[in-house]
Amino acid sequence: MENKLDPVKFIIRLVVLMLVCIALVSVWFLWSRLEGEKPVIATEIPSFLNPSQEFVLNLSDAKSGIRKVWVAIEQNGREMVLRNDIYPLKGSSDLVPVHTLSVPVKVDVKKLGITDGKAIFRVMVRDNSWLGWFNGNKTTIEKEVLIDSRPPEIVMLNRVLNLNQGGAGLVIYRLSEPCPTSGVMVGDMFYPGQAGYFSDMGIHLAFIAMNHSQKPGTEIFIKAVDQAGNAARSGFPHHIKRKIFKTDTISLNDNFLNQKMPEFDVEVPPDSQKPMLAKFIKVNKELRESNYQKILSAVAASDNKLYWEGIFTRLPNSAPRAGFADHRIYMYEGKEVDRQDHLGVDLASIRKSPVPAANNGKVVFMDFVGIYGNTVLLDHGFGLFSMYSHLHSFNVTVGQMVSKNDILGYTGSTGMAAGDHLHYAMLVRNTFVNPIEWWDEEWIKNNITDKIKEVQSTMK
Ligand SMILES: [Zn+2]
Repeated sequence: MENKLDPVKFIIRLVVLMLVCIALVSVWFLWSRLEGEKPVIATEIPSFLNPSQEFVLNLSDAKSGIRKVWVAIEQNGREMVLRNDIYPLKGSSDLVPVHTLSVPVKVDVKKLGITDGKAIFRVMVRDNSWLGWFNGNKTTIEKEVLIDSRPPEIVMLNRVLNLNQGGAGLVIYRLSEPCPTSGVMVGDMFYPGQAGYFSDMGIHLAFIAMNHSQKPGTEIFIKAVDQAGNAARSGFPHHIKRKIFKTDTISLNDNFLNQKMPEFDVEVPPDSQKPMLAKFIKVNKELRESNYQKILSAVAASDNKLYWEGIFTRLPNSAPRAGFADHRIYMYEGKEVDRQDHLGVDLASIRKSPVPAANNGKVVFMDFVGIYGNTVLLDHGFGLFSMYSHLHSFNVTVGQMVSKNDILGYTGSTGMAAGDHLHYAMLVRNTFVNPIEWWDEEWIKNNITDKIKEVQSTMK
């Protein structure tokens, strides 16, 4: 019969089929073993190494997997092996390769007898490929590094620092080597220093502040971390003067709340019970905090140019309405509902008065900011900023350079303001400081300009 398969033919066909299968599997296996994709070293080797430095090498090999990792450092012709690891394929039947690996590397300078100065760092990674006579694909990196075991030297260039609670100050110091991070710690607040005022780029100016709530006894010191990560700190003589701030009681009434609260519908949607008061508390607490964060992002960077000169202008012909760091207790129907500190000075003049720039600077912010309403922020350089709030309208744009007394806008009552006035504030980095100091020629001379002169005179 034609349809009946000859048993011999059937066996032959079966054997052929099996051979083809074996051949295919072998080809696939060989192909996978003969892959030419090199391992990847994803970590950038640091250019500077300190004696206690440890870093992690992140390695990967997508195809056959990592087989060998070799790390060494060479100094003065002497090569020292830091790692020489083999990663066998896991399991006997499934042979699972190691596709990703994190290898910690520590350069024990003392044990290895390495001295400060140049060294060559080498990494070699091989995979499980059978290429290169079963040695695998190889990736190597070689990098010249600088071993640095010495912390930077910090020299304070001024004799003494006087600070008022809620006030500002200037610290000038010299660093012995370039440091990516340096500045002054005042309690838990960090005030970065910037070079660029003096031609000697080792000399840094750090405008600093004492938060109104920080107490005399707060620890103050200069801190610097060099490119290798060696840290140093240096204390210096300082005096902190205690200040008493006013306590003010503010009675809220429905008239004010009904008039003001709808302005905040977008940021804080209306609530159901006692809607206006509940909303006021939300606005006064939560919105105030998020507004502060918005201001902080505007003052995060400052030019290393001292734009300002002489005393800062105070809104002309204005009467003070509230002072810096007034402690405000908010009352409603005879009960205390909130407490906040007022971190600026309220100045009232005639309605829609022109608002002059307090000093030369750069407009870094111009927008509506919740409780502050329409606000302009000027960068005066080296971390000093002035802020103008509750404006009715603006007269400048972001990025514009302004001179002292240029008109920034006009006073108004936008944001949480009961009537037309200017909320004038000053910041050193993230800290609101008392503007009164910057309106005082004597204070500026003693605390800022004389300190710069003191350093200048030593350079001649
Ligand atoms: Zn105010």
